[in-house]
Order: sequence, then structure tokens, then C-alpha cells
Amino acid sequence: MNVMRHTIAREISISGIALHAGVTVTMTLSPAPAGQGVMFVRGDLGATQIPARYDLVGETRLGTVIQKDGASVGVIEHLMAAVAGAALDDLTVTLDGPEPPILDGDALSYLTLIQKAGLKSQGVPRHAIEILKPVSVTQKDATASLSPASGTVYEFEIEFAAAAIGRQSFALDFSPESFAQAIAPARTFGFVKELEGLRAMNLAHGATLENTLALDDSGVVNKGLMRFPDEFVRHKILDAIGDMALAGAPILGRFRGLRSGHATNNALLRALFADSSAFRLVPLS
Ligand SMILES: [Zn+2]
Repeated sequence: MNVMRHTIAREISISGIALHAGVTVTMTLSPAPAGQGVMFVRGDLGATQIPARYDLVGETRLGTVIQKDGASVGVIEHLMAAVAGAALDDLTVTLDGPEPPILDGDALSYLTLIQKAGLKSQGVPRHAIEILKPVSVTQKDATASLSPASGTVYEFEIEFAAAAIGRQSFALDFSPESFAQAIAPARTFGFVKELEGLRAMNLAHGATLENTLALDDSGVVNKGLMRFPDEFVRHKILDAIGDMALAGAPILGRFRGLRSGHATNNALLRALFADSSAFRLVPLS
């Protein structure tokens, strides 16, 4: 893991469709000053700035949405996962629409973009949030917890009635390398029977068979798109890594998720930061 804070070496842009809004959005990643963290900028809304922080999360129904001063950015979790996976600390993300483009529905699309821009050391030490005692949140049948560990570990278990998913579990010893190989390529997924209802709620207008693994009663409709047999649980870890990145620093500890989603992940960070005896900031070594 990098022991110095990093930003990107040069500005880079990409355009694509927004998963929920269905509009084309251009996203520009720019170098940022040391200590800024990740800052979203709505270029189409008077350059309103929204820091990528857990306490600015509003909506979590189908993607993590941050909001400030009447402006919001949705579905930030895949980009945030790539930022965490790249060990990138300071970054400005300017958008001319309500969400980053969904690209391939994974984090690899963003990671590739970050790698193209290159990383640049800020010459300032990087700090991590060390978990000192277990913190756990349960909401209905979902549980998420953080507990002390020597490194950063993500463990996840899901159980879906759909036979194509069923019960899946995965454990990741987190590093930039393991993230890039085992997690970043895992695509988002959705159920065909829910699509009409989602669109009626003005969601998923940009979901296509090219960016989302689509499930119906017979299984995965676009099986040819699959990159792992257990891609679904890997994507849930991707989402969790993106959601935990809203802590504002890398986490040293063990994340465990059982059917957890964005709402429970966010509640976990709020519970963690509500208890100052549960964590401390330590320089990475
Ligand atoms: Zn996702």
C-alpha cells in the first residue's frame, strides 16, 4: 500500500451513459491538492462541490448518492472503489450530469482510466483508519461489521432466491493487485422483472445488456458478459469497497457483509464515526 498520499499525474476525461438517468455524461478526473480527498463537482450546476464523504450520503436505494447545497451525484460507488483500489487519495471529479458514466458496469473501466492518467505522489504521508474494536449494524436481514485485523480484509456473503445466484461467499485480502484482479472486473447486476418498475421510478434508464448482468427466471440473459462464476458476490464486495471509501481514508480492519447493501454500509460508517473509541488515525507504513 502507498505510504504517501497520491493524486493523478494529468487530467483525463471520458463520456458515457448514466445508469439511472440514461443521459450521456462527460466525466473529467483532475489532479487535486494534498489533503483534499475526493471532490465531486457538478459542472452543470454552477460548479457545486460535493465531497465524497459518508456523512453527505442521502439516497441509497439503488446506488450511493451524495448531496450538498441542493446538488447531488449518484452511483458513485464503482468509481470510489476504483479510487480506493488505485490507492488514490486526492482527486477532483467534474461531471456535467447527475452520475458518473456507468461504462462497463464495473470498477475496471475507472481503474484503467486512472492508470492511463498515472499516479503522482503528493509528498505527504498517508493515514489510515485503524479499527480498534468491532462495530456492527443490522438492518432487516442485512448485517455489516468492521473489526480489528492486521491488514484490510473484505468478506461477503449473499443469498438470493434466483438459482443463478443462490448462496455465494467471497473473501478478499485487499491490495491494489488483488482488487484489480479479483474485484474490479465484477459487473453490476439486475433482475429483468424489476426493470419496468425501476424505469417507472425514473431509475435504470441507462441499464443495458452491455453494462449490467441481467437475470430472469432462466438465469443470466447475457451470460457471455460474465467474467467470474461468482461475479455477483464479487460485485457486492466492489460496492462495499466503494462505500467504505467514503470514510475518507483507507480502513485497516476486517469488513464483513451479510446481504449488506449501500444503506447498511453507510449506517456502518456512521456507527463507526459515532464511537471515537472504535478507531484511530495511523500513518501507513
Ligand atoms: Zn454496484
